[in-house]
Amino acid sequence: MSYTSGYVPVEEATVLIDTSRMNQVLEINTEDMFVTVEVGCSWKKLHDSLKNTGLRTPFWGPLSGMHATVGGSISQSSVFFGAGLFGASADSVVSMQVVLANGDVLSTGSAAQKNGTPFFRHFGPDLTGVFTCDTGALGVKATITLRLMPEYKSMRHVSYDFDNYEAQIKALSEIARKNLAAQMFGTDPGLGQVRAQRDSLLNDVKALGGVLSASGSVLGAVKQGAKIALAGRRVVKNASYPIHANIEERCDAAADEVALQVEAICRRLGGKKIENSVPAIVRANPFNPLNNMVGPQGERWVPVHALLPHSKVLESVKMTEAIFEKYQAAIEKHNIITGFLFTTVSTNCFFMEPLWFWPDELNELHRATVEAGVLAKQKGFPANLEARAAVTAMRNELVQAFSEMGASHLQVGKEYIYKEGLKPESYALLAAIKQVVDPKRRLNPGCLGL
Ligand SMILES: Cc1cc2nc3c(=O)[nH]c(=O)nc-3n(C[C@H](O)[C@H](O)[C@H](O)COP(=O)(O)OP(=O)(O)OC[C@H]3O[C@@H](n4cnc5c(N)ncnc54)[C@H](O)[C@@H]3O)c2cc1C
Repeated sequence: MSYTSGYVPVEEATVLIDTSRMNQVLEINTEDMFVTVEVGCSWKKLHDSLKNTGLRTPFWGPLSGMHATVGGSISQSSVFFGAGLFGASADSVVSMQVVLANGDVLSTGSAAQKNGTPFFRHFGPDLTGVFTCDTGALGVKATITLRLMPEYKSMRHVSYDFDNYEAQIKALSEIARKNLAAQMFGTDPGLGQVRAQRDSLLNDVKALGGVLSASGSVLGAVKQGAKIALAGRRVVKNASYPIHANIEERCDAAADEVALQVEAICRRLGGKKIENSVPAIVRANPFNPLNNMVGPQGERWVPVHALLPHSKVLESVKMTEAIFEKYQAAIEKHNIITGFLFTTVSTNCFFMEPLWFWPDELNELHRATVEAGVLAKQKGFPANLEARAAVTAMRNELVQAFSEMGASHLQVGKEYIYKEGLKPESYALLAAIKQVVDPKRRLNPGCLGL
């Protein structure tokens, strides 16, 4: 599900390893509080396996978790569910087993000790960290152990709308700095319109079922359900710069208090409370079919992203808008839609995702992933190389500009500027590690510039 060519070969005669049958949850250890999975296990399967245990992993999946695997997400890091409080996917890992190029199987964390088990990450220098976010350039992960923690069952879902992105971004940053939301996201009018067009009534009804079954009380469920049915579509269509947040706490009093704190921040910055149907639906149905991977009429979609300190977000959005402006003629000519998605990672990181939709033909991956019923109703488009080239040019300019701003990235793969952007001493150490674990450069050549 990644889109930065991480798994795309750059050499002839390449072997691709498909981990989809390595999909077992191997051990749920409720005494020592860890769970070990085979790398091809999806986040949805892990989530389902932990149901009824009262436990979860701190980070518990990207929005693509129906298909995205624990192995893929740890190999490049991912954000979303749980990331607001507990950081990215790599931050939840305790230990791994990694197959090196010569066939050695390396254990990391406390399991690196001869008599050890995978209960803790740090025993000497962080060998686990060396292999997270390597996009597979340093070894093939076979199993991954993640920390377990209790589920926070008291939830509140809140949405606020702002009339400009400056206030929206300030509110997201402030909520993040105060560590209030389990996960949250913001969209702009461009993305809001696209989502509103795509979501069918049927999806609403299906999603509503999830909200109802996830709701504690029958009365609460009915009230919530009725509100969503009436307001769901309208909320998405009318909202201009909304923030949707899930608050998850240990008890109702704490959840109410945190919701009040979020409200105070949003109101101070000019936010208006709107129906909370979007965050309620997202939280109740976390891992849906990935129909969002294409636009409402079967347009192509591609994002690019930057991980930024809060202080650089506004500058970065303005810079992105300037690039969109520069390409305005091409955007209009080819019916390209631009948009933004924002989220945050723990207290100290803002995730900004500019994205594009444009009329162009879908490929095999889209057809294998998007539900057939959804594809069948879409108009679809023939190949549109000119539009694709315009989007690629904008995306490349942004990648360059993000590097100049000192942004970090998830899924570095073969597209973000890594080698050229790193200080020489740092890159030299990484290259030296590669030389030890894969001296003949057999593993995923080209990733991380290695
Ligand atoms: C609709 C949609 C929504 C998305 N939502 C999110 C989101 O909410 N948050 C987010 O962060 N991302 C999101 N993504 C991006 C993507 O889904 C994530 O990056 C996800 O983590 C990719 O997982 P995967 O299993 O598909 O990895 P892949 O794309 O298969 O692989 C990713 C990289 O890891 C390497 N790799 C995979 N398995 C191993 C292994 N066992 N050992 C070593 N290297 C390995 C691959 O070579 C590749 O470089 C989304 C994508 C789509 C299409």
